[in-house]
Amino acid sequence: VQINSKSIIEQTEKFGANNYHPLPIVISKAEGVWVEDPEGNKYMDMLSAYSAVNQGHRHPKIIQALKDQADRVTLTSRAFHNDQLGPWYELICNITNKDMALPMNTGAEAVETAIKAARRWAYDVKGVKENQAEIIACVGNFHGRTMTAVSLSSEEEYKRGFGPMLPGIKLIPYGDLEALKNAITENTAAFLIEPIQGEAGIIIPPEGFLKKAFDECKKNDVLFIADEIQAGLARSGKMFACEWDEVEPDMYILGKALGGGVFPISCVVANKDVLGVFNPGSHGSTFGGNPMACAVSIASLNVLLDEKLADRSNELGEYFLGRLQEIKNPKIKEVRGRGLFIGVELTEAARPYCEALKQEGLLCKETHDTVIRFAPPLVVSKEELDWALERIEKVLG
Ligand code: PLP
Repeated sequence: VQINSKSIIEQTEKFGANNYHPLPIVISKAEGVWVEDPEGNKYMDMLSAYSAVNQGHRHPKIIQALKDQADRVTLTSRAFHNDQLGPWYELICNITNKDMALPMNTGAEAVETAIKAARRWAYDVKGVKENQAEIIACVGNFHGRTMTAVSLSSEEEYKRGFGPMLPGIKLIPYGDLEALKNAITENTAAFLIEPIQGEAGIIIPPEGFLKKAFDECKKNDVLFIADEIQAGLARSGKMFACEWDEVEPDMYILGKALGGGVFPISCVVANKDVLGVFNPGSHGSTFGGNPMACAVSIASLNVLLDEKLADRSNELGEYFLGRLQEIKNPKIKEVRGRGLFIGVELTEAARPYCEALKQEGLLCKETHDTVIRFAPPLVVSKEELDWALERIEKVLG
């Protein structure tokens, strides 16, 4: 059988459920910031699998950890201990400055876990009456695709045909402190927020909002939960995007780059007064905390720290953002970003631009129709960004 992009795409479209609209490119190899199709064409990755490959494709230290662990033990379930989970717990708690963590596999599962923890905390610790707990989330949020996550969403298309939705959810406009104050009641368990909204189009909250929202939560005995699945782990130029407002949330939700784009792992991290609400039997996952995921995650976190990828994202992001802001085109409405987490908002559909950029050798994906997201792996060099800028200027200029 001849393997080529056309036949692979036909096979995918014939047998696969139609829940994605990918660009017509097949990736069969990758290294660092570069990917390659079966015909040998090379492209620069400007999406990083929605920030899951912040460390670059197939980082050698992460791949080594995967191989070494594959030669020892891959899965034990949580019926038994494994020798990678303990060290992983300690590392993630040190990095987040929290007491305890709970590992899952995908981002949406970690969001589920956070909501369960917050609700139980509301009943067991705060003293909310049974089944009355409320969660406040933000318009435009993206927390994943499970029933809880889509119940949190303000997007009709994410929910259509999937009802009934989970009750006990209130939405406020992103960055609106007054709305948050008005939404909080004695039944509020938590305020859940992406410190930078990714899927909504790289939306940055007004300066100081996170801090004021956090203070408001503290005043009312409400948990402040940061979904840092996409914005966290060095992407925004800080280890956590909450640091931009000097906020230490009550709970972090992490995923994506936690596994270096090599193995799925997600988690929630919080102090004992919150995560301590779980007891044996109350929550779990067959694969959660498996030794492959933990070994890979330890290596992935160490790469972020050792290679100072947050600082790198900050410095290169400033340069890249500045150059993008210099592009003159009346169709560009706004260029915004933090670190190498950048959105170019257009006055028209972004998809044709992404297709044109692909022709030039750059892989980007539109988000929310009119925004081009630029989020290369954080190991990208300045020279590689200049290479990209030449092509972006050609398509957008
Ligand atoms: N939360 C945020 C902020 C995300 O960006 C995503 C994925 O894009 C998710 C949650 C869901 O993660 P997953 O696709 O791994 O379930």
